[in-house]
Amino acid sequence: MSYIDETIEKIQKLHPEQKEFIQAVKEVLESLRPVIERNEDEYRREAFLERITTPERIIMFRVPWVDDKGNAHVNNGYRIQFNGAIGPFKGGLRLHPSVNLSIMKFLAFEQVFKNSLTGLPIGGAKGGSDFDPKGKSDREVMAFCQSFMNELYRHINHDRDVPAGDIGVGAREIGYLFGQYRRLTAQYEAGVLTGKGLSFGGSLCRREATGYGLVYITEELLKDHGTSLEGKRVVVSGAGNVATYAIQKAQQLGAKVVTCSDSTGWIYDPEGIEVALLKEVKEVKRARLTEYAKARPSAEYHEGKGVFTVPCDVALPCATQNELPLEYAEALVKNGCMAVCEGANMPTTLEATAYLQSHGILFLPGKAANAGGVSVSALEMSQNSERLSWTFEEVDAKLQGIMKNIYANISARAKEFGKEGDYVSGANIAGFLKVENAMKAQGII
Ligand code: NDP
Repeated sequence: MSYIDETIEKIQKLHPEQKEFIQAVKEVLESLRPVIERNEDEYRREAFLERITTPERIIMFRVPWVDDKGNAHVNNGYRIQFNGAIGPFKGGLRLHPSVNLSIMKFLAFEQVFKNSLTGLPIGGAKGGSDFDPKGKSDREVMAFCQSFMNELYRHINHDRDVPAGDIGVGAREIGYLFGQYRRLTAQYEAGVLTGKGLSFGGSLCRREATGYGLVYITEELLKDHGTSLEGKRVVVSGAGNVATYAIQKAQQLGAKVVTCSDSTGWIYDPEGIEVALLKEVKEVKRARLTEYAKARPSAEYHEGKGVFTVPCDVALPCATQNELPLEYAEALVKNGCMAVCEGANMPTTLEATAYLQSHGILFLPGKAANAGGVSVSALEMSQNSERLSWTFEEVDAKLQGIMKNIYANISARAKEFGKEGDYVSGANIAGFLKVENAMKAQGII
């Protein structure tokens, strides 16, 4: 049996319940075949695949907090420090009821390769909790964040591990987390968290970074294939941070974005999504998309899921993992879609990815396409170290440069290993090679 198959089998036996983690490992290892099989014995002797698929450290802890009625609750807290070979651990915190060890491990594992692709010196981590911020008061969210930090603070600092936001963690939560860290350590260590508010060490363009970066790399892909976003019809899923700024940038580049969605329903707006209204509904009122439809006569609201059944040229899944299964991949192909670029982490199932690729759809995986967020987080760390703030234009220009480089890198690696146009392989191989080099240099640790 090949070393890759052996490793996948071992992980399946060891953690049969961790389905998202197994899915992520399979995707990465399958595309590393051309690399590993060139020198299988050496990788096996060094237990290299076991080491790269096992987190350096898993931290799990209890998060007790008290609600507005005086009732106590307990949630599970996690921080997975997966691989720190190329720099301090870096990755977001997710607050969502679905959070469990499998989801945390899959996200942290993906983050290792994504961070490597940015070209910046950051290792991969992820964390979060099964706390649901929906329907909670500001005080309850603060109580939770403070309690979460009461444990997390001993495992992080600007050289060790630098968390950021993800689903359910935006500027409000980062503010509460930073405040509690500062209180516990009695130090102003701006570089310990990214995604901070602008008045206390945040970076301009961080809020926009993931969505803008996704659109920059999509434009790069389309240009490489002789076209552009200008005049294209685009479907986006999600209505959070990534989705909102992807919609904004795509429209600035001349595309018409006709959908968005949240966890209960979705909008079809043939006139094009009105970003100012979407921000008002989601960022200010924290309301459902039904409010968007009420305020916009051209919009239709649908319960449940369905964004990817709308005919489009380009699809940008920006909500959550496994939101684009095979049936939607079939609908996209049938409706003449030419490109799918992932804003979310692993939104496309393995079967759907294979289907899209085998039907000639240009496909950019999340670890490359959504790397703009962590890239600007790393730029925020640089600004914190310098104790300076760069202008929006400076950060945006650097972001564009990084996304261009990522595209060039994954495209070149795919070609080099005989997989031209297979950007999943290109991204996994390019991300892996840098981490591998650093791990080999540092010995068996
Ligand atoms: P947000 O919390 O801002 O938004 C998430 C959006 O997805 C919301 O509209 C939410 O609906 C919807 N959503 C969440 N869970 C589900 C679900 N189970 N089913 C259907 N819809 C769901 O998160 P982000 O925009 O920050 O993150 C979106 C994705 O992008 C995630 O996969 C994240 O890991 C990834 N990502 C984010 C980065 C960032 O910088 N923020 C960086 C790189 C990747 P509702 O409004 O109802 O909550």
